[in-house]
Amino acid sequence: MPELPEVETVRRGLEPVMEGARFESVEARRSDLRWPLPGDFAARLEGQTVTGLGRRAKYLLVDLSSGEVLLMHLGMSGSFRVLHDGAARKPGSYHHEKPQHATHDHVVFHMSNGAWIAFNDPRRFGSMKLVPRDALEQEPLLRTLGPEPLGNEFHAAMLACACHGKKTSLKAALSDQRVAAGLGNIYVCEALHRARLSPKRRASTIATRTGEPNERARALVQGIRDVLSDAIRAGGSSLRDHKRTDGELGLFQHQFAVYDREDQRCPRRGCGGTIKRIVQTGRSTFFCPVCQR
Ligand SMILES: [Zn+2]
Repeated sequence: MPELPEVETVRRGLEPVMEGARFESVEARRSDLRWPLPGDFAARLEGQTVTGLGRRAKYLLVDLSSGEVLLMHLGMSGSFRVLHDGAARKPGSYHHEKPQHATHDHVVFHMSNGAWIAFNDPRRFGSMKLVPRDALEQEPLLRTLGPEPLGNEFHAAMLACACHGKKTSLKAALSDQRVAAGLGNIYVCEALHRARLSPKRRASTIATRTGEPNERARALVQGIRDVLSDAIRAGGSSLRDHKRTDGELGLFQHQFAVYDREDQRCPRRGCGGTIKRIVQTGRSTFFCPVCQR
């Protein structure tokens, strides 16, 4: 499933073709993705100009001149493809496309600048929803999310406070979207390795008895920020389904220190440990038992 860096990569790919452009026509080729699309989905988008393209956790937020926001989630297998070919501007003209691709193009945006943006989602766990801008804070999909891990509200004191008194593992605590929004299995494993902290460690041990952050909390915040920034720079990780909007693959999987590297040598200089895989709350955790304590 795409995590924050993959969604941010998609946002950066869409921004230059969407921002400032108008939805000329919208094809909704199915009435549902994960959930039903609004009945008047196309009509509420057509004629609207995109005034901004943001991201919250794993959601893309397309600000419209109508005052509504188009909320989009990639689900498990969703991707966007941008085409600029003039011939492709005509709705339904796919002659240059691979047919197996086109069958899963469920929504196509035709923008006023000639760009043609197809949302492809074979497994259909993705979603699109229109929400009034001023109701965004009450939106159930966003309301419970914790701070953005690359934003100013995410810091050692906040993280220590969120983990204070928690008996759960550090891995489970960090995977909780109320603690850090947009983090998932891959980047939690990688961040813990960077911070030299064991995923099995009790979450409460990054805080003092009174809930103040200790050295571990600071190392963890740094590890999370670094791994996310590096991954965004590399265009995200290409595992299974993540593609950039230009069809190119993200490259961060080549920089994984622990994720999906069971039995391989820990890349930390001088460590000499071997990466182990364990299962925590139903998901694989990868870590180095030598340098992560
Ligand atoms: Zn190690």
